Formats: sequence, C-alpha cells, structure tokens
Amino acid sequence: MEEEKLLIKNASQVVTCSGFAAKKGAEMAELDIIKDGAVAVANGIITHVGTTKEVLRQINTEEYLEIDAEGRALLPGFVDSHTHFLFDGYREEEFSWRLQGDSDMSIMARGGGIVSTVNATRKCAYEKLLNLGCERLDDMLNMGVTTVEGKSGYGLDFYTELTLLRVMDDLNERHPMDVVSTFLGAHAVPPEFEGRTDDYITYVIKDVLPHIRSERTVTFCDVFCEKGAFSVEQSERLLRAARSLRFKLKMHADGIGSFGGTELAAKLKIVSADHLLHASDAGIKRLARSCVVATLLPLTSFSLDEPYARGREMIDAGCAVALATDFNPGSSFSCSIPLLFSLACIKMKLSPEEAVTALTINGAAALGRAGKIGSIDVGKKADMVLLKFPSYKFIPYHIGMNVVDTVIKDGELYIV
Ligand SMILES: [Zn+2]
Repeated sequence: MEEEKLLIKNASQVVTCSGFAAKKGAEMAELDIIKDGAVAVANGIITHVGTTKEVLRQINTEEYLEIDAEGRALLPGFVDSHTHFLFDGYREEEFSWRLQGDSDMSIMARGGGIVSTVNATRKCAYEKLLNLGCERLDDMLNMGVTTVEGKSGYGLDFYTELTLLRVMDDLNERHPMDVVSTFLGAHAVPPEFEGRTDDYITYVIKDVLPHIRSERTVTFCDVFCEKGAFSVEQSERLLRAARSLRFKLKMHADGIGSFGGTELAAKLKIVSADHLLHASDAGIKRLARSCVVATLLPLTSFSLDEPYARGREMIDAGCAVALATDFNPGSSFSCSIPLLFSLACIKMKLSPEEAVTALTINGAAALGRAGKIGSIDVGKKADMVLLKFPSYKFIPYHIGMNVVDTVIKDGELYIV
C-alpha cells in the first residue's frame, strides 16, 4: 500500500504543547509555539515539526497532500478525559425541576436522578446504544476532540455494564474517534442492593471485575467516592482489587463534599482524581507532590449552578490540571469544548495557555497516554485541530462558538 502523506504548512501558529508527560504548575503555561509552522504526517504519524522553511527543506513535497494553513492556528487534538457519553434516558424534565428549585431528594422522589437513566439504559438494545454513541462522537469530533474517555455505570448489573463496555469497544473500532473505556460499576448502589453498599462492593470485586478484566479492552476502573455513594474505605477496597487485576485507576473525588477522596487518590497514586470541588488544602498539597492528574469539570458546576473547583490555586500549588466535559444526562448534558474553555478561563481563572495544556497533553496524561497523543511531537499520532483563527487565544474568547475549521485524526481530514 502506498504511504499516505499530509503536509500542513504556513500555519500562523503550530501550538505544539510538546511533551510526553503531564505538565505541572508553572509548566502548564508553556505551549512551545512555532510561528509560520508546518507539520508533516505519514501513515497517521507525525514525522516532521518546525517552521515551514525547515520542514520544506526536509521533505519531498510531491509526495504530500498539502494544506495551506495561512492565518490559522494548528493545535493538538483535544482529549476529553472524563465523560459518561453512553446512555439512554434523557432527563430534560429533571433539568426544569431543578431550575424551579427542586432538591436532589425531591427530584429522586419524582422519578428523576441516575435511577431513571439506569432503567432506560438496561432496556436499551445494543444497536440503539451504538447509534446514540456514534451521533455523540460525531458532535465531539466536530469540536476538535480526537480521544474521549467513556464510562460504564448506567447498568449497575453485570449484563448491562458489559454491554456498555462492548459498545464503546465497537465504537472505538468503527468511529474515527479513539474511545478509552472505564468500568464504573461503583457509580451508584443499584436498587437491588439498597442499604447493602458493602455487599455491592463485594459483588463488584468478586463477580464483575474479573469478567470485565477478561474483556481486555477496558483500561480504567473508577469509583464514585462521595457522600451518599461509596465511602473512602469502600472505594479503597475496590480500587486495590482493580489494581491487582491491572486496571488503571480513576476516582470521582470530593465533588459533593470534602470527603477525603483527594487524599486517597494521592495515597494510592492513581492516574487521575476528578471533580475536586471540595478538595481540602492538605489534599491539594498532596496532589501537587504526587503524579496524580487533577481533572476539573467546570461544565458540571455551570449546569448545576454550583461553585467551581479551585483550578487557579491547584496550578499555583504545582498540580497537573486537566479539563474534561463530564458529558452525562444528569449534571452536565454538554460536550461543548468551546464553553468548557471559556468557563475554565473566566470562572476558574486559568490562562488560555493553561487551558490548552489542560485539554491536550494533561488530558492525555489523565488517560495514561501522554507518550502517544496530546502534543504535536514527532512520533505521536497525527491528531490535530486547525482553527478558523490565527491564535489559540480565540478559543476562550469566542465564547460558546466552535472555532474549529478542520480536524485531523490519524492523519485523515475531517472538515467541520
Ligand atoms: Zn463523572
């Protein structure tokens, strides 16, 4: 087969985000920008990065499909490292109830909450889930996302959890998007185990985890370590069992109250700790000293009209911060990358540079993939976005608007 080669030249900026690991603290502001830059790609892998002059000297342009990117900035593809994108059962009624002042308790009493999504997802056929997932991945790709993480957790029984993970594997094969799947069996206590949370954790460890492991395509195990869900002790028991089966680990931590999840994340040296709205000062210090990525989800705070995680303080303390959408039917029914960027800058006080790092190389690190994606470096996957504008600074500035012109996924072009 003939090699497929692509050259993008004359880009006003090539925002490389160069690196192969998470960037911490002050490093997050360093984007390593090349003015009047070019990138060459062969067989889906980046082969040359430099100024247009330098790259043109090194290659034979006759072999390449050329894109003249004059007046446009080129960035790494965005990595959305925390979503629950695969589900049936929308909750638009619940959204309007919350606007009228209903509490979570009264929403549950009226038939809303996660249980309604679990009931709908358990009944949903494989093909329908596949189609729903495919449509949602299309939306994400159009906004420049080239790798997305997706969690199970709307089955809460063995059969449906396995189905959700198999659909994500299928989507990873069929759709251009790379889908990294996470087992979140401990998302909530299912109705069958009401009042028996410890028994449910034991069931997940003994009867579910080993089978999920044999699927091989599932990378992460996650747990909802929050008041009213799973305690720090229960979370630790599950995460240690998952680690012994060679799952990588994530946590929903300190999103609802200060619960000790951040400290557990640092103690277990998991890959990423997510939400962190109520992370304690001591917890933030421990994260900064660790290799754990702090993944923040400002769309959820916006959707629920709640305070935002202390992103500015975390970066100043030396943490590696990633940003993700938390796309889900309840607390953040949005996969809007543009709005996410603006909220991170305006509400969490990240600089545009830090927000770019958080959604590229640090997002990749939150998935354990910083060696392969998340930056424009030679040898990495050719996952990139070409903007309609000459600078990355337009992303948070053009509020809520999609500034992506073309997405390059594995070296293939997708015009938006
Ligand atoms: Zn989540």
